[in-house]
Amino acid sequence: MTQAIHPIDVILHKRDGLALADAEIQSFIQAVVNRTPKKQLVTDAQIASFLMAVFERGLDTRALATLTTALRFSGETFNATPLNTFTVDKHSTGGVGDKTSLLIAPILAAAGLSKLTPAGIPGICVPMISGRSLGHTGGTLDKLETIPGFNTQLNLTQLLDTLKQCGAALIGQTPTIVPADRILYALRDHTGTVESPFLICASIMSKKLAESLNALVLDVKVGSGAFMPTYEKSKFLAELMVSTGEASGTRTVALLTTMDEPLGRFSGNWLEVWECVDIMRGARHPMSRDLIELSDILSGWMLHLAGHADTPEAGATLADEILRSGAAYQAWLKIIAAQGGDTAVFEDPAAFHKPTATRTITAPQNGYLSSMDCKQVGWAVQRLGAGRAKPGGPVSAHAGIEMHAKLGDKLEAGQPLATLFAEDATLLSEPEAMLRETLKTSASPPQLHPLIREVITTK
Ligand code: URA
Repeated sequence: MTQAIHPIDVILHKRDGLALADAEIQSFIQAVVNRTPKKQLVTDAQIASFLMAVFERGLDTRALATLTTALRFSGETFNATPLNTFTVDKHSTGGVGDKTSLLIAPILAAAGLSKLTPAGIPGICVPMISGRSLGHTGGTLDKLETIPGFNTQLNLTQLLDTLKQCGAALIGQTPTIVPADRILYALRDHTGTVESPFLICASIMSKKLAESLNALVLDVKVGSGAFMPTYEKSKFLAELMVSTGEASGTRTVALLTTMDEPLGRFSGNWLEVWECVDIMRGARHPMSRDLIELSDILSGWMLHLAGHADTPEAGATLADEILRSGAAYQAWLKIIAAQGGDTAVFEDPAAFHKPTATRTITAPQNGYLSSMDCKQVGWAVQRLGAGRAKPGGPVSAHAGIEMHAKLGDKLEAGQPLATLFAEDATLLSEPEAMLRETLKTSASPPQLHPLIREVITTK
């Protein structure tokens, strides 16, 4: 008879720095998902202790792969095999004004719709499962849910149908996909164990691998707006995620990208949809240039991995052509309509933006916009109402910030720097003070980091 594995023994082994056996990790995660209020196979206190032991001791490559796989198969997984097409997704570790998903999904969908498989399925499919705002960062789901009628809660059959029809679908985490991560994540949030690269890797990769992808492109942020505090830590996380993805048979590439200022022109839920719709309809606002460049580069990698471009650079050129031709906008309209959204709002996105309170802050002196704590800008956006005051609370569609200058831009005293939007005038003062404090000017131009710092790939 095989001996039962007790959660306390798994915790003790990890606490004491011993390598965990596969069976120990699998049995612990099984206990997490199978417990009921009556049958406490493992208690919250034990799960929290396990998480802290992993936080302190880390995981070796094998244990990380085993934990990721145990989480991945803790519930339903999405199976795209019936489509017999190439499935690819992108995941960002989170930033401020980071709305690339809203451009990338339609760009890839347009590419897929232009090359159908013999069965009439788009040649590329993007089953994009996204999250809500977290800490100082915005969430793709919160942005999409500002579109009247848009349904992010598709089940897996509806996801498959939308992919067949549109080449991409934009949905939220279902209750049945990776349920163990939901439990671990909620406890990590309250026990100071969020920032472990091993736990972040297992959490993100289990959810992405549950989409059964052929390829995955990771946008790992570095800089003052990133979750990871240093370049080295971001790079370490990127390497863990790439090796975990590759070990599971998903071609995985990570780009380390700069997040020292908000990406693009707007940060905030509807504001970000508006910016992307403008771009897809042909506008090239100067403040959107970094957003367009990063979206093209990430799409370029996805198109290259899907075999639609010989190199990532050729893929980026193709992505930009798709954007400029209007094909991405047509694909966007198709996806939004298929998921119940009212596409009429895109005719005049500015008219749909109805903040009741607005304030503009200006440059205090001549000089250059030299630096900012981007995390502070992200918190200002959230406090204007774009983020949640408490878990599960509402978010404002209209709150956010429009930046009027990029780092390195020359400023004249009195020139607009940022406009704040809220649905309640009392919410303006604190974010205004945060921005005034963090937006710094200098007499000479600052040294800036390139948008793409490094590409992590095993091939
Ligand atoms: N996003 C996730 O899904 N998990 C983490 O641990 C961190 C960010």
